[in-house]
Amino acid sequence: MAGQVSMRPFIGLAALSLAAMVQALPANAAAPAEYALTVKPLLGADGKVGALDVREALQPAALPRDGLPLRLRAALSTFGVKAIAARVERLEVSDAAGAVAMLASDDAPSGRPDGAYRHWQAARQVSGPVLIRYRIATQAVDEQGGPPFGMKAAGGGVAGSGRGFLVLPENAASTSTLMRWDLSDLAAGSVGVITAGEGETVVAGPPQEMLELWMLAGPAAPYRSVRSPSFNAYVLGQPPFDAAAMLDWANRSYAYLAESLQYLGAPPYRLFMRTLDGPSFATGTARHDGGGSLITLGERYSKNQDLDYLHTVIFHEMTHQWVGQFDSAAPWFSEGLTTYLSAVLPCRAGIEEPAYCAASINSSTHTYYESDGRNWPLSRISASGSENVRRAPYGRGMLYFAMLDAQVRDKSQGARGLEALLLPLFQARQKGLQLNDAAWESMLARELGAQAVAEFRASVVEGDVTLIPPSDAFGPCLARYRAHWLAEGSAKPVDGYEWRPVACQR
Ligand SMILES: [Zn+2]
Repeated sequence: MAGQVSMRPFIGLAALSLAAMVQALPANAAAPAEYALTVKPLLGADGKVGALDVREALQPAALPRDGLPLRLRAALSTFGVKAIAARVERLEVSDAAGAVAMLASDDAPSGRPDGAYRHWQAARQVSGPVLIRYRIATQAVDEQGGPPFGMKAAGGGVAGSGRGFLVLPENAASTSTLMRWDLSDLAAGSVGVITAGEGETVVAGPPQEMLELWMLAGPAAPYRSVRSPSFNAYVLGQPPFDAAAMLDWANRSYAYLAESLQYLGAPPYRLFMRTLDGPSFATGTARHDGGGSLITLGERYSKNQDLDYLHTVIFHEMTHQWVGQFDSAAPWFSEGLTTYLSAVLPCRAGIEEPAYCAASINSSTHTYYESDGRNWPLSRISASGSENVRRAPYGRGMLYFAMLDAQVRDKSQGARGLEALLLPLFQARQKGLQLNDAAWESMLARELGAQAVAEFRASVVEGDVTLIPPSDAFGPCLARYRAHWLAEGSAKPVDGYEWRPVACQR
């Protein structure tokens, strides 16, 4: 979860300057935003959002440099959305001289669900302001699976991601986007919000930055927290649980993540939940340090879903905000550390019981010990298309971080834990250090010696050493047990380990 999203760091969420905000205010209307994007959700006769009307305006200063023809693009498809560009209707581009013909061409298939685009190129020179308008149907609610990138109707509103529906200038000179909502078709009191802000919002960066944001519009009463003013949440529709209790749980989780991992303070965070009509098989997605996430639910739980499962999904997606970017093709760090922290922190915070954390840990130990890729090098895992193999680094990383935490605690007689190793790395990343395997290894050599580097390479990178952390690696309330089970899917007998609750002093 989150691994499929673009790895580019988010620009300007916290750093959005006051000057940029002022530019967006109507009082300064003499200088229109260089690039403005307005999205209007359209209600169908059934009371559900059936389409989105999108309008864009490019001012002269934002047009392509050096006389290059204006080009627009939309993804052909992405994870969980089979068709995007093919659903675009009535695309109209105009400038002062009238309509501008646009010539469409498609990239060759990328061999993945994402990475290929439809491009539209202006048939003549344009002069600003240029207006772009089109309409796109929302994604069918029953189109299943995958992360929730597509814009789907939910609870009288709509939610998804920018990449699921946007046709954007691809060579504009614009360096910021003014995002606006037209909510006139929706119920009174509806909100329009993106992960970068509620209502009219300025997003730093080129227009393509809008692909990286989660979006939600509709009658979702915002959850405001006195405890954490920078945490906001929005729920569309009626989920199969008490939404207020869930948001309070999420708020406590956010506060504990901020307190434990420290280096971001209490960053702005927007948690979106959309409740689809009927069951939902998808879960949630966030960008690394993207300022928010979207969780997708059904009005009732699907197979394998329950309240604990959704707690784990929400905690996992929020944890990605702090784990952030790691420059490596293999997800041992970003997914491994996120999986580790979201399995242990809820119990450390006292918001879950040991049985909850044991279940979360064991779901990952199972995927690790039973995976065909358990003892493969990460390079071979990355090249594999098998889901059973793809998820192996989640469990491998989780067990590695548990082992490392135990080693650091041991060495310092309990004075320090894993967070003491991570904090200086995260702080250095904030100042521009590229976090990668080399930076990780030099930290290990400094803190724990050459042996720790050799262990990391053997157990994580090469995979030839199977990870079996000490019994108390997940804290004093859980202990390690040998366990035997049948692998999911293949029913192959597996010998591995589980952690189970034991009597403890908390
Ligand atoms: Zn994830």
